Amino acid sequence: MSKFIDTHLHLLDQRFSGRVPEIIKEAETAGVGLLICNTTVEQEWRQALDLSQRYQTVKTCLGIHPWFSDQVTPGWQNRLAESLDLAGGIGETGLDRLAKPAIKQQERVFIEQLELASHFDKPITIHCVKAWGRLLEILRAHQSLGLKLLLHSFGGSSEIMHQLLDMGAFFSFSAALAAPNRKKLRQVFKTIPLNHLLLETDSPDQYVPELFDNCPVNRKNMPCWMPEIYNFAASLRELTPQQLTDKIWENGQIFTN
Ligand SMILES: [Zn+2]
Repeated sequence: MSKFIDTHLHLLDQRFSGRVPEIIKEAETAGVGLLICNTTVEQEWRQALDLSQRYQTVKTCLGIHPWFSDQVTPGWQNRLAESLDLAGGIGETGLDRLAKPAIKQQERVFIEQLELASHFDKPITIHCVKAWGRLLEILRAHQSLGLKLLLHSFGGSSEIMHQLLDMGAFFSFSAALAAPNRKKLRQVFKTIPLNHLLLETDSPDQYVPELFDNCPVNRKNMPCWMPEIYNFAASLRELTPQQLTDKIWENGQIFTN
């Protein structure tokens, strides 16, 4: 039976420290059947894999986030390669023009992760902020790699979406969909083919009062709130929550195959 998927969250974030078993349990109780735990630095990889071995519902993406792309140490690519067999994918990686590391360094680290994703035939979770032109150039140059792309917390225009869709990309949306000032985002969301759509909390980031103030637990973004995101997204797509849940459950299997 299909369940909810939280396609992108950070269980190892310090804000969740000491509460991870409880957070996973609450999410499972809320009907979340798959949590894709993303990592941002090498130091998180081991712990992420441990979580995925302990909890059937947790899969991991191992990677280097663009914010930390200047902190890699020699041999990181080999150590990532050695760990990928047990991971659901690579991530989170990408390009961010607002981040401190030089864009050239971000690109180098990103491209190495694209190559590993191809070599190990794993999906790759991409973060992109104000670098769409360069991202598209790089992805086009690597199109022969047959990459399984996932744009997480997608915030690009309709035109960018179509260019990525031509490369077979998946798009994941967060609770930002419900923010009053994100009308354009909602318009793009409504036009994405259902078989390329995913949803996420990006927790503990992205607290969206418009959606989460109805939630019974404390005022933080948590994976147990996935049902709220599904309900909101289903209403935008004029689908029943069950129809959307079934479709997204199918799409999310890119992380389990
Ligand atoms: Zn993230």
